[in-house]
Amino acid sequence: MRLDVLTIFPAFFDGFLAHGIARRARERRQVEIGIHDLRDWTYDRHQVVDDRPYGGEDGMVLKPEPIFRAVESLTHRQSDPSIILLTPQGRRFDQAAALRLSRQSQVILICGRYEGVDERVAEHLATEELSIGDYILSGGEPAAMVVMDAVIRLLPNALGSPTSAQYESFQTGRLDYPVYTRPATYRGWSVPAELLTGNHAEVNLWRRRAALRKTLRYRPDLLTDPARLDDTDRRLLTELLRAAAPAAQPAECNSSP
Ligand code: SAM
Repeated sequence: MRLDVLTIFPAFFDGFLAHGIARRARERRQVEIGIHDLRDWTYDRHQVVDDRPYGGEDGMVLKPEPIFRAVESLTHRQSDPSIILLTPQGRRFDQAAALRLSRQSQVILICGRYEGVDERVAEHLATEELSIGDYILSGGEPAAMVVMDAVIRLLPNALGSPTSAQYESFQTGRLDYPVYTRPATYRGWSVPAELLTGNHAEVNLWRRRAALRKTLRYRPDLLTDPARLDDTDRRLLTELLRAAAPAAQPAECNSSP
């Protein structure tokens, strides 16, 4: 796949591209990444990319012309790219969106700055607006890195093991299980005995139960669709709920999809 980023601060991405999964995936040619300076699509001597907002108010707004020109020249004819405007006003980026984008042949990410981007980009150029959360960043660059990292790790063979991404939080209908490493006891805190048995079935059962317990505690909203859980998870969840509050056992946890 191809990822193109439009930014007025291309150097932001130097560290991201030099390390970890982005570097590896590029070296293995699993992804092509282009970081593009929006100023390359300006035609004036001062390479102006922003202007004052109509109607007054403080701050500057990114102009539409360089963004339209850049996207039009980066669009590969056959690719029908996803053109994403990063904005706190967009739909919330999540694992499902990452999976969907990882199946595209080209994704173009537009990073805003200052007061934001001329609204005509959202209305007539972007195919979607994405937010990485309900808070305001100073620019779209950190958001673009978040999206790229989440997408790249879902590309075929980008992670060392083909199953690594499969069982992570949000891929299944629950959070991932807790993990431990050596030493087996640290400051008197021991690793759960089940993980030291060498019995694969026992380890697996412990992990499922622990994952569900953690999901119940921090993200119970993920468990509202029992169809996303298999029979074993539903049984374990029912047991956990019964142990926590005998009277508060939801009927749907007992039913198969
Ligand atoms: N005035 C805008 C508002 O209140 O909605 C905020 C503009 S923000 C300071 C500047 C740029 O940072 C945005 O155009 C966007 O590209 C990026 N940005 C800020 N927060 C973001 C978020 N939560 N998700 C994605 N992009 C964000």
